Amino acid sequence: MRINSKFVAAAFIAAFSPQALANVTVFACEPEYGALAKEIAPQAKIYNATTALQDPHQVQARPSLISQLRRADLAICAGADLEIGWLPMVQMKANNPEVRNGQSGMLFASDVIENLDIPASVDRSMGDVHALGNPHMHFDPKRMLQVAEEVNNRLASIDPDNAASYQANLDDFSKRWQTATEQWQTKAASLKGSKVIGYHSSFRYLYNWLGMKQVADLEPKPGLPPTSAHLAKLVKVAEQQKPIGIIVASYQDPRGAEWLENRTGVKGEILPMSVGADDSVTDLFTLYDSVINKLLELKSNHG
Ligand SMILES: [Zn+2]
Repeated sequence: MRINSKFVAAAFIAAFSPQALANVTVFACEPEYGALAKEIAPQAKIYNATTALQDPHQVQARPSLISQLRRADLAICAGADLEIGWLPMVQMKANNPEVRNGQSGMLFASDVIENLDIPASVDRSMGDVHALGNPHMHFDPKRMLQVAEEVNNRLASIDPDNAASYQANLDDFSKRWQTATEQWQTKAASLKGSKVIGYHSSFRYLYNWLGMKQVADLEPKPGLPPTSAHLAKLVKVAEQQKPIGIIVASYQDPRGAEWLENRTGVKGEILPMSVGADDSVTDLFTLYDSVINKLLELKSNHG
């Protein structure tokens, strides 16, 4: 039997060079997925395509994004069409077969989890609705853990030599994350039943997790900025529903919330949408800490 010497050499290198692919390159569409990748693969080179101060629905397919995706071994994105306006173009121009849809190098979080609010039907009159369900799922700790498990699976398949190390990092993250989740739930128990006015469905999964309710949206329709006619209607909603706050995400224009706060006395608050929104939010743990602390403060001021 002839032995393929190239094959033997490759197998030898794979078996005896555990660090051969230690520097896996990860492209994260949003910083929450960059932060998640860092938990599982701290040695990886991680590039965040957007910041917490940027609207992930509206991103320019810049040359820097294209060159970063071209180098990536793994891309992690929210999916459910959140990035439909820019990612397909970046994928096409990057021309990297590893991160094409359907490859193990292209991970969409929404393919792993159960999406909330999948509409029965969609038509143009409804505005820019999330036709595949809400993609802003990173404030649900259980869903984030499911995504972390899939990040581990993908890394193990892309870089099998380091599979044991990714698995150990996942186990460690999973333990810390579950402990933190219980602490957050205990701490936030008083928020159950609280109402808020929001901007877009950005924190839908957070409210779902904590038992809160967004009773009105500053957007007249999904994807449309607040109008004065719409804000005027919300004055009545605020009086009737008595929300604890008017919540905008760190990337959203706060002026509508400020106007409504001045008219109604309901306090406006900016919540960090992702890691990096301010200096205190350095990872997923401090991100959750920050949003829960801010909501609790609103609640305690509300009485
Ligand atoms: Zn959205």
